[in-house]
Amino acid sequence: MELNDRIALVTGAGQGIGRGIALGLAREGAWVAVNDLSAGRAKGTARDIVALGRPALVFPADVADATEAAAMVNRVRSEWGRVDILVNNAGIGPATMVEDMERSEWDKVIDVNLGGVFNCSKAVIDVMKSQGGGKIISISSLAGKLMSFNAGANYTASKAAILGFTRHLAFELGPYGINVNAVCPGFTLTPLLEKSLPPDQMEAIKKRMPLRQLVMPEHVADAVVFLASDRARMITGCSIDVDAGGSLAWQDWDSYVSARKKGA
Ligand code: NAD
Repeated sequence: MELNDRIALVTGAGQGIGRGIALGLAREGAWVAVNDLSAGRAKGTARDIVALGRPALVFPADVADATEAAAMVNRVRSEWGRVDILVNNAGIGPATMVEDMERSEWDKVIDVNLGGVFNCSKAVIDVMKSQGGGKIISISSLAGKLMSFNAGANYTASKAAILGFTRHLAFELGPYGINVNAVCPGFTLTPLLEKSLPPDQMEAIKKRMPLRQLVMPEHVADAVVFLASDRARMITGCSIDVDAGGSLAWQDWDSYVSARKKGA
């Protein structure tokens, strides 16, 4: 196992991608502190981690609140002695056009998606420095490089900013053996999304992906496990796209081939 007895904290891990990441880390031997706004959902993930034979802690807290984020990190440290891996996953993405967007809606998304990454990353710096290293991994999005498929410009801006923050923090923390990286999932099939998108739309998106599949939370978890492992020790300030090739999907496959294929 790649992460035997490492101590991990995953935010927004009550469902979807965060839950997949928490379970992926646990399968590799990590002990996982599960944060979510919803205590019920966090407990559900913690139960599944314990069922895998790994210890779990539950932290219902709002990552946008600096005091709650710091208290959460302090509790992980006092219960388990260290924090080896922080995964900043909690995020929200309402869909509103800028012309209709209230300033409060802009602030909310920036506070949770970007402020949450700042709050939790800041809170682990002391503990990671004092233990001689650690891994900070933030979940940005393909939206951070292009634009969002189903959320607003506030979401796109927050995810782009996470990539800048990641590069800069990697520079500041490199001398302390702390790796700071990001993962950019493309369109990822979470249980919530599965419920909200009609099957024909799902099929159309799948057909458009170069790999002809949708990204699942487990695929994002695999990239996080890699970045959290010793194999990625020389990687910092980077991001890994887990998008089934979605960033290349602006072209229609059939017209692409018919314009190029000899004899078509
Ligand atoms: P989701 O809505 O299914 O789950 C997010 C979880 O975060 C929820 O359990 C929610 O309660 C929790 N959360 C929300 N605000 C919080 C806060 N302030 N403090 C603590 N917890 C909070 O979302 P998801 O699709 O699993 O996305 C997870 C992350 O991945 C987000 O950062 C999202 O932007 C990113 N992402 C998702 C996709 C996708 O297609 N699903 C693609 C790219 C990036």
